[in-house]
Amino acid sequence: MQKSLTKTLVFQLQPDEDGQRLLDDAFLEARRVYNETIWRAKNGEDWDEIRQDLESDANLVNNTAQLVVQKSLEAMENYYEYDDYNQPSHTKDGTYPLRSNYEEGYNLFLKDDCIRYRVSAKPYNPVKGTLSGSLDSLEQLRQAIQSDEWRVGTAEAMQRNGNYELHINITHTEIEVQDKAESRTVVGVDSNEDCIALAALHENDIVDSVVIDFPEIKKERHRYFTMRKRMQNAGKSSFDRAFEQKEERFVHDQLHKVSRQVVEWVSLFETPVIVFEDLKEMRDSIDYGTRMNRRLHSLPFRKLRDFITYKAAFQGIPSEEINPEYTSQACSLTKCEHTTRANRNKKRFKCVECGRQDHADRNAAINIAKKELEKLDRNVPALKTLPTVRKLRRQASGCVDQPTVTHDTARGHHADGVAGVSD
Ligand SMILES: [Zn+2]
Repeated sequence: MQKSLTKTLVFQLQPDEDGQRLLDDAFLEARRVYNETIWRAKNGEDWDEIRQDLESDANLVNNTAQLVVQKSLEAMENYYEYDDYNQPSHTKDGTYPLRSNYEEGYNLFLKDDCIRYRVSAKPYNPVKGTLSGSLDSLEQLRQAIQSDEWRVGTAEAMQRNGNYELHINITHTEIEVQDKAESRTVVGVDSNEDCIALAALHENDIVDSVVIDFPEIKKERHRYFTMRKRMQNAGKSSFDRAFEQKEERFVHDQLHKVSRQVVEWVSLFETPVIVFEDLKEMRDSIDYGTRMNRRLHSLPFRKLRDFITYKAAFQGIPSEEINPEYTSQACSLTKCEHTTRANRNKKRFKCVECGRQDHADRNAAINIAKKELEKLDRNVPALKTLPTVRKLRRQASGCVDQPTVTHDTARGHHADGVAGVSD
């Protein structure tokens, strides 16, 4: 089974006061509809009846009421289908998103150099304004509205972190993404602020692995951070916006290049699936020491992943996430698999049990791929030896194949190139 390529674009609505009031009311009404649907479904009422009742008495435009009820019933369906699913709550608090179809519950209009929106929060009372968002997202949406290759789909208006947002789904009409269950090659990805490690596994062995270094991004971000700090200390309270954009553009550009390189590498293998660590679960486990650490860490991380997923999907390659627990601490050799924090020291992995040394991120990438094989209910290969760590480095002029690093003590690497330890 193949899946269409769908992307969700995020925009800010920035409604005026009236618009805010309308949206706030509608979010609460959507929540009421959601809670009531769940409550009645839990009580064993007939789903068709629930649909009819709620769709006709909700104080929302018809299309939105339908989609909110449908979303609630889908949550119930999921709960019944998978045992380990949480039972949906019928006492949800806060606001609930308004879901609607393009040209029904919401509409978009191209106007000169901006995109106007109309969201029908309540019957006969649309909220209107101009969408704002990243240049990338605005450009993609403009393209989707105009071209036959893309279809504009459902959208959700919601409140997030105090902002009014519109999340719009766009779908490519021709590209189809391979079903991950049919993948032969599982590529584990361990991404960091200055490098990304990839390990490709089949059911019977490891096929290849690589570490792509991109120290420039970290260096540049650090440089900008220091400059900004200095400006602040000098009493300049507001950052120069142009200055900030310059940094953004540099990082953005670099991340595009790295992600392109990653997808090129992955696409060399037979029916690959790209596997990341689940970010939600990771947030707790990352050691964010200082504020700077956090700043340096967070932004490119997410973006790089999004770029890879998106570029891969364009080639029909699916992406997937696994629980990151212990992936960086476990020795990836099957016979050992000893797991302890002491195995890892920054970029260096040295198993305290079997003594094997590895590039820490490459070791983690292998574990991530192994977890995905398990998750897909496949055979996990018995790894006895591992290929030499190969490094590629991103440079301004492109990608340069570097000789294998053996002793880079200054940066804490030790014998990266151990060509697998036989047992
Ligand atoms: Zn070991």
